Amino acid sequence: MINENYIKLPSAYLFAEIAQRVKSFKAEHPEAEIISLGIGDVTQPLAPVVVQAIHKAADEMAQVASFRGYGPERGYDFLRQAIVENDFRARGIDISSDEVFVSDGAKSDTGNFQELLGLDVRIAVTDPVYPVYVDSNVMGGRGGALGANGRWTNIVYLPCTAENGFVPDLPREHVDVIYLCYPNNPTGTTLTRKQLKRWVDYAIEQDALILFDAAYEAYIRSDDVPHSIFEIEGARQCAVEFRSYSKTAGFTGIRCGYTVVPTTLMLRTVSGERIALNPLWNRRQCTKFNGTSYISQRAAEAIYTPEGKAQVQATIDYYMQNAGLIRQTLSSLGLTVFGGTDAPYLWVRTPRGMSSWAFFDELLRKAHVVCTPGAGFGPSGEGYIRLTAFGQHEATVEALERMKERL
Ligand code: PLP
Repeated sequence: MINENYIKLPSAYLFAEIAQRVKSFKAEHPEAEIISLGIGDVTQPLAPVVVQAIHKAADEMAQVASFRGYGPERGYDFLRQAIVENDFRARGIDISSDEVFVSDGAKSDTGNFQELLGLDVRIAVTDPVYPVYVDSNVMGGRGGALGANGRWTNIVYLPCTAENGFVPDLPREHVDVIYLCYPNNPTGTTLTRKQLKRWVDYAIEQDALILFDAAYEAYIRSDDVPHSIFEIEGARQCAVEFRSYSKTAGFTGIRCGYTVVPTTLMLRTVSGERIALNPLWNRRQCTKFNGTSYISQRAAEAIYTPEGKAQVQATIDYYMQNAGLIRQTLSSLGLTVFGGTDAPYLWVRTPRGMSSWAFFDELLRKAHVVCTPGAGFGPSGEGYIRLTAFGQHEATVEALERMKERL
């Protein structure tokens, strides 16, 4: 017998459907040069310090005296210390290295973390949403049935639309776990400290857990946007934070990230006993994960050196220049654009009340530009498209020129 929860999941429809539509268009118009502003992957090469660190680590692997086999499941001390010092203490945040678990990226950890939760817990997600939070809970048996409205019956959806300024309202019913992702994928919007504090207060009051995905933290530029949920008082009692080097330092192919599970975070058993989550996550990782490669961890360590910080920042600035240009150009065309100021994503309202897919087709047909239809991220994404700033600068400029001329 198989786990039937897997059959309930619809096939990964969004990117397959995009690929199919692009393929058909190309077949009809072989001369068209298509530019994708839909990709969620980075395009710029690794920082030179990262490449040097990789070479050095590879050389160490070539010698008996410095060869490394299995590493510690939680990650090497050198990286965990660098994380604590640079990502937390430098911001006045109290996190210790035994609260940091190095991972192979935020997808695995955001997807796996639900294993520590009871089967009956009520999950809430923002809508639109990064699909991993929903699908991993459906696999774990917490979804219920998929309704015709595109929502799982046992999951609470918190709409984020232009009408509420993309700030989710607190749930009207009790929920046990809330996934928050800020800066947000797909909308590119953020929460201020005050807005995030409301969620921390809510979680403490409701005895709920916040799973906070900060994969795009490095793109924050506004002073009042928190880089970590642990900047907020009380978060050590109610939150776990996921980080990734993928978009921070172009590690989508290298693979490294980390998760912070405070030692002060306790969850209830059925009988009401309080159990610390940190040792349970450690137990889970020690059983199912054999660590991130030594070479990847040395690569990650390198971004915390002064040269590393400057080089990584230069690439982030490159992408944010694209983001600024997309925002400016589309606004000048009369489109309503959200995000792109503290995030590499732009969330664009479709014109004339068009559906996401209708505008996708129009962009492809007229400008030969590929976007991601917002409806693919959840029902509240209908009427929007997502553009990303991760393209090559020249290609982004060309795509925008075409949109100016042809839309
Ligand atoms: N979280 C969010 C919100 C993302 O958008 C992504 C990647 O697109 C990830 C996590 C996964 O990142 P990683 O490459 O670290 O697995």
